[in-house]
Amino acid sequence: MKILRDGDCAIYLVGSGGMGISHPTDAHIYLVDGGAEAALIDAGSGIRPERMLENLREDGIPVEKIRQILLTHSHWDHARGCAWWQRLTGADIHGHSLACEVVETAAWSRTHIARRGARLEPAVTHRRLADGDSIHVGKLTLSAIHTPGHSPDSISFVMQLGEQKVLFSGDTVFAEGGHGTVSAETDFRQFLESVRKLVALQVDALLPSHRHFVLSRADSHVVLLQKKLATPWTSMDNSRVPFFPTWWLEHDESLYNDALK
Ligand SMILES: [Zn+2]
Repeated sequence: MKILRDGDCAIYLVGSGGMGISHPTDAHIYLVDGGAEAALIDAGSGIRPERMLENLREDGIPVEKIRQILLTHSHWDHARGCAWWQRLTGADIHGHSLACEVVETAAWSRTHIARRGARLEPAVTHRRLADGDSIHVGKLTLSAIHTPGHSPDSISFVMQLGEQKVLFSGDTVFAEGGHGTVSAETDFRQFLESVRKLVALQVDALLPSHRHFVLSRADSHVVLLQKKLATPWTSMDNSRVPFFPTWWLEHDESLYNDALK
């Protein structure tokens, strides 16, 4: 599904459990088409990933065009699919050093999916991304921003597409000031600092890993999370389910039945 375009460059949504275009356990998987080559932002859960090939076919994107996979972090709904995509395309995988370690060792053993007996498959990673690194995808250039908080290995990617500054925010920022799951590994001090960095970018489009995306004036959504994180706990707005969506991924056993093959 094409969501933004500038000449022969474009951004597509090729997978998403939340939006119902691939397996329910998939985070949003975006494809950045830089003209001559393309990159995936995240790889999904790896459960029935074939459905994303249908989406690529419908969009007229040959799968061989995917030369790189950029990881927003190593949580399994984003990264367990790395091995499958790499086998199919031979794509290079880039992420924070901690994320690369998880992918190289398939270290998802403490997750629900592993406890249910699903196979954990490692993949080979290439670049260890640090804050400020550039990644070239055809004519396009993405900058990596280290945004720890939700997880220590969280990386956001920002790029210019025509007139628009586009942010892939992973589980760090969702629309309407939302954010990914809160767990024992969440560091709120770092989280706030990371969100401040993203506010400073003044992005136009926000392409997060869950829930809806925002295609104009998206900076206000990022500012909202900064305000929320800087607010005393007692007055924090919890009107949305606080642990959506990873809580759901970790607790609804019916989601895993088709992973056990
Ligand atoms: Zn996550």
